[in-house]
Amino acid sequence: KIEAQYIDQDDISDILKQKQWSITDHKYKFGHALIIAGNVGTIGAALLAGEAALKSGCGLVSLYTHPELANLVPLRNPEIMSHAYTDINNLQVDIKRASSILIGPGLGITNQSLALLELIFAQATCPIIVDADALTLIHKQPQLLTTFSYPVIFTPHAHEFARFTGLEIDEISSHRIDVAREFAKKYNVILALKGYQTIISDGITTYVNTTGNAAMASAGMGDVLAGIIAAMTAKQYASLEATIASVYLHGACGDWLSIEKDRVLATEVINEIPDRLQFLY
Ligand code: AMP
Ligand code: MG
Repeated sequence: KIEAQYIDQDDISDILKQKQWSITDHKYKFGHALIIAGNVGTIGAALLAGEAALKSGCGLVSLYTHPELANLVPLRNPEIMSHAYTDINNLQVDIKRASSILIGPGLGITNQSLALLELIFAQATCPIIVDADALTLIHKQPQLLTTFSYPVIFTPHAHEFARFTGLEIDEISSHRIDVAREFAKKYNVILALKGYQTIISDGITTYVNTTGNAAMASAGMGDVLAGIIAAMTAKQYASLEATIASVYLHGACGDWLSIEKDRVLATEVINEIPDRLQFLY
């Protein structure tokens, strides 16, 4: 029995080549990522995810964030369409338009966030990526998962995973493949258990990532990964393959950058995405 497969560059190339782009393509062909993220003091997480999604080739990015911050987003990223997350009418329209939805980076653990999570699960007709604070919230509402019929991708780091499962960090680190597979099976989600050699599992097939390094252990790095996954799913790669390719690409950016520096920043990874993506095709 094969326990897990190591991901190599050819696997990623095969995934990416499944999509052929043509000279007549318009932005809708490249997908629309809807991102619900950011709060007072954590708007950076939302910006990192949004910018990573754009650089990963997503056609459109709509960001819903705290009402006091929505107007600041285009000053940093004019390509991002930004709204207050209290603008429920527009949000409902975008939920239907979106080809992927990311919820969680810097969102805050509040009743407002929980209401947004419930709205997304009630109305979405595309894959949902659940990261960061949204993971903490969904732990209290696991029944949302059982009624949802599109793929759900969870992207916890070890501490978030420990909080969710009640397992000790030590227990997780010594059985990463098994705990990841069992979790994915139990909740019927695609799980990316992040860290050194991120494990990706849908409960049936389990993969071990071979890119990335400790120079990437820095703030905002996971928000970038979440944005990349949002873009890859928005571009209509199958959710498991989108997750594998995103995790590999994210780590490949960090590996490339770490040749010349000891520490790698999240924004540096974002800027490296287009070249590394091109290289992987
Ligand atoms: P987060 O903790 O949510 O910011 O996510 C951190 C991101 O950086 C994840 O994608 C991790 O896989 C990656 N990362 C952090 N530390 C390492 C490491 N030592 N080796 C490889 N990747 C890492
Ligand atoms: Mg994170």
